[in-house]
Amino acid sequence: MVVDPMPVSRSRVRVRGLVQGVGYRPFVHELAGRYGLTGWVLNDTDGVLLEVQGQDPAGFLDALASRAPPLAQVDRIEVEALSPKPAESGFEIRDSVAAGPARTMIGPDAAVCPDCLAELFDPGARRWRYPFVNCTHCGPRHTITRSLPYDRPQTSMAGFPLCPDCAQEYADPNDRRFHAQPIACPVCGPRLHIRVEEIVARLRAGEIVAIKGLGGFHLACDAGNPGTVTRLRALKQRNGKPFAMMVASLAEARRIAEIGSAEAALLTGPERPVVLVRPRSGTAAPPIAPDLAPDLAWLGLMLPYTPLHYLLFHEAAGRPAGTAWLDAPQGFALVMTSANPGGEPLVIGNAEAAERLGDIADCIVTHDRDIVARSDDSVARVIGGAPMLIRRARGYVPLGIPLGRPVPPVLALGGHLKNTVCVTRGSQAFLSQHLGDLENAATLRFFEETIAHLLDILEVEPVAVAHDLHPDFLSTRHAESLDLPCIPVQHHHAHVAAVAAEYGRSGPMVGLALDGFGLGDDGDSRGGELLLVDGARCDRLGHLAPLAQPGGDAAARQPWRMAAAALHRLGRRDEIAHRFARFGNPALLVQMLEQGFNCPPTTSCGRWFDAACGLLGVRTMSGFEGEAAMVLESLVTRPAVLPGGWTIDGGVLDLMPLLDALRGLPPAAGADLFHGTLAAALVDWALPAVEGAEIALSGGCVMNAVLTEGLIEGFARHGVTALVPRRVPANDGGLSLGQAWVAAHHLIR
Ligand SMILES: [Zn+2]
Ligand SMILES: [Zn+2]
Ligand SMILES: [Zn+2]
Repeated sequence: MVVDPMPVSRSRVRVRGLVQGVGYRPFVHELAGRYGLTGWVLNDTDGVLLEVQGQDPAGFLDALASRAPPLAQVDRIEVEALSPKPAESGFEIRDSVAAGPARTMIGPDAAVCPDCLAELFDPGARRWRYPFVNCTHCGPRHTITRSLPYDRPQTSMAGFPLCPDCAQEYADPNDRRFHAQPIACPVCGPRLHIRVEEIVARLRAGEIVAIKGLGGFHLACDAGNPGTVTRLRALKQRNGKPFAMMVASLAEARRIAEIGSAEAALLTGPERPVVLVRPRSGTAAPPIAPDLAPDLAWLGLMLPYTPLHYLLFHEAAGRPAGTAWLDAPQGFALVMTSANPGGEPLVIGNAEAAERLGDIADCIVTHDRDIVARSDDSVARVIGGAPMLIRRARGYVPLGIPLGRPVPPVLALGGHLKNTVCVTRGSQAFLSQHLGDLENAATLRFFEETIAHLLDILEVEPVAVAHDLHPDFLSTRHAESLDLPCIPVQHHHAHVAAVAAEYGRSGPMVGLALDGFGLGDDGDSRGGELLLVDGARCDRLGHLAPLAQPGGDAAARQPWRMAAAALHRLGRRDEIAHRFARFGNPALLVQMLEQGFNCPPTTSCGRWFDAACGLLGVRTMSGFEGEAAMVLESLVTRPAVLPGGWTIDGGVLDLMPLLDALRGLPPAAGADLFHGTLAAALVDWALPAVEGAEIALSGGCVMNAVLTEGLIEGFARHGVTALVPRRVPANDGGLSLGQAWVAAHHLIR
């Protein structure tokens, strides 16, 4: 049989997305060689541009997206046919073309890759036990970059000139360190100021050690030493808030907690978030101090992500060669909590660490590479079988969120708690890392710095600024101080819009905002809202029955007050005094309720949770926001529905029969009944309003896995898909995305 030779064709290919600084050009070079193609590849302001010529480019073109390097994110590939160039031979990597405004982006920080890990533990490698090993497929990015283009002189590696060995690797397209900007080795790179063996000895001795990481300092200690954990809690003034814990490997994580496939993928992904997992019951090794996460059914677990983290476990394991030791039991686990005393931003500077952490840490571990962009550990949990981000920071920022259509450039400043800011460029939204609560001057400075850094690395000039309706939020005041048109967005409109933005939806959408607090259009307090959102427009279809908040804001931290308000509404004011006698003066509270004095009503779903907690005697006082509800969720074993537990009248959902039933129940049974009934009631209430087959779920209460899984299943039984925030926090950490989306629709209109 005679086969005709296939004709030679030539194509010009444009690759868009996160394709620079991730080893994409060497990948194309290697791929072209494998397919016997000639041509060239280069970086320019739109991404990667290449031309290939040969007999069969189809497989090559397919692999451009399907086999891209681990950190690349290919958004789009455009192919244009050209006429072949007869004399061409070979395939070259051409110099970058830098002209016009950049449309590209730097990547997030990524955990040490398997190749670098192998080098780290190879006694024969020149980077054996070097705490700053990295390559194109891993290492710091966002946290070391001052401005674009993402080249070494614009990063905090600028002060470390490459040694000849590193320079050679950097220039070799066949090396995995080709154009890896943070490339370093013991000869030319940053250095740790304390030896690893000393750090481990101190940790083993029960000391608290501050360790400089990628986006800031951690406070670390032996997780199996109850005395040290309690001391850390006291020194950090952290009340009951859980501490995150780091273990050496997935194998070790599986020994101490229930890890499903979604949890495993989160734990081992290059983003390396803290993942909420259920500890195994009756586990022996490694020991976990009981004070780590008091009364919670979940533990915040993460795996090492910097070479230094790995070296701590390696040292504790006796410095074995190779990586097989990571699968063996370790008996060593670390508390790793962000070093931000007093709710201020993370500590990032060496001098700052000495000043702010000196009273907490027994030892401070620093090195000589600066952290440019402060970034906390991200936190995620699995809900309904898929990951949900609770705090979005290191590992995810500054990846763009595709909006499905181009929008005008706007800046959105978020809310007051768990603040983030957001900038739109083209058809993407860029959400900042978690900034924290805008309650102190230090966080406010961090907020201003981050806005400047984000606008700078994106090279965007916003045409408007979006903010919350609340006039007293510092984010609102900052918006008003800018020389830009202001677009106020109602809090829960923004929550639902954030879901529409994440899912790229543009039509009308019904959403449930199940939240703690947001100011309403009438100056009222809201948080259990049924909304119809259509771009810049938002109609309130219904809300939870209002509850009185005796003492206003104080009620949010003292669930017993909400329980008292519920008892009062049930006509059981006599019960208030005897149930809550230990909290100061319940009689005064009854008087306030009778007279309606300082008892602003709220539709907040969070306050309904608080009322339930107060009635069941679960955390009648909260040490931190959402604590009572988290403990209540931890008590659930099997959600149950109370028939007749709610009423719906004129769009108002009232759960008072449910609260009445909780009065006589023990906490665990009450937790089951409250969660099951609330989910069933919300589905019953929202279903008639649903247009099409989707409903958006958002607000802080959506981070409650039992409630959200109940809603997903409940709506699914009626053929309705619940759209749950996944890549953006459902809480106020996602607010700025929703604000930006609403503001953009205002401008498009
Ligand atoms: Zn690597
Ligand atoms: Zn070097
Ligand atoms: Zn909110």
